[in-house]
Amino acid sequence: MVLAEPVLVVFSGVFGAMLGSFLNVCVYRLPRNESVILPASHCPGCGKPIAWYDNVPLLSYLALRGRCRHCGQRISLQYPLVELATCVVWAGAVARLGPSFAALNAAVFLTLLLGIALTDAQHYVIPDEFSLGGLGVGLALSLAPGGIEPLDAAIGAAAGCALLWVVKAGGDWALARGLIRGDELSQVLEPGEKPASLGWGDLKMMAMVGSFVGWRGVLLTAFLGSLVGVLVFLPLVLLKRRAPVPFGVFLSAGAAATLLAGPAILGWYASLLRP
Ligand SMILES: [Zn+2]
Repeated sequence: MVLAEPVLVVFSGVFGAMLGSFLNVCVYRLPRNESVILPASHCPGCGKPIAWYDNVPLLSYLALRGRCRHCGQRISLQYPLVELATCVVWAGAVARLGPSFAALNAAVFLTLLLGIALTDAQHYVIPDEFSLGGLGVGLALSLAPGGIEPLDAAIGAAAGCALLWVVKAGGDWALARGLIRGDELSQVLEPGEKPASLGWGDLKMMAMVGSFVGWRGVLLTAFLGSLVGVLVFLPLVLLKRRAPVPFGVFLSAGAAATLLAGPAILGWYASLLRP
């Protein structure tokens, strides 16, 4: 383990918390098709703009004891928790990998996954800014030294997209022939939208994932994401509890596990195959 200068770790943590604050804005506004820049943050209760000193990541929430300064409305605990998570991710990446492109890669990837998991869980949407925007960042970072090769990133992106397209095509085929019923998927549909086995957002997301972890990583992500999804949803299905499936949440969990433990998992699997 490389332990970088403590100052750099602290600086990264502060940057991560600030980024988390912006991620909160993105998670709230992107699914509503609102600008993430204007207008400045305001309280959803009283509509008053939030002053900069009431918008300091983590600290303001503690100072205000989780309530709006003006109207006293509760501020969601999600805000400080996301800021704390990104703070830990960015500080941890630099502490573990040093001030490097590898650390930047890991921190950006985990931040994107957190954004995707939150928007998919709350709105059943994976914003293009996270998936396609993230794909661009992933491909660009693969050109920097110390990470995966650009070719692996490109093949990973294509593989992630292609793999889910095959699943989607098969699922949609089964839907069209009535082998599965649309209402069994219990999706949240826009007016006029036909039920689909998988959303396009999941495909675009997996292209992004592939650009960060390469083709081996994206296969492992799909496997782990499906495994988590089945483990979580099988009991619900057996209990006949209908809930839309935010597959992006499980894919995010699988992708994070792939980043943090992928080589260990693949090594363990390979050891099982050896005589
Ligand atoms: Zn207020």
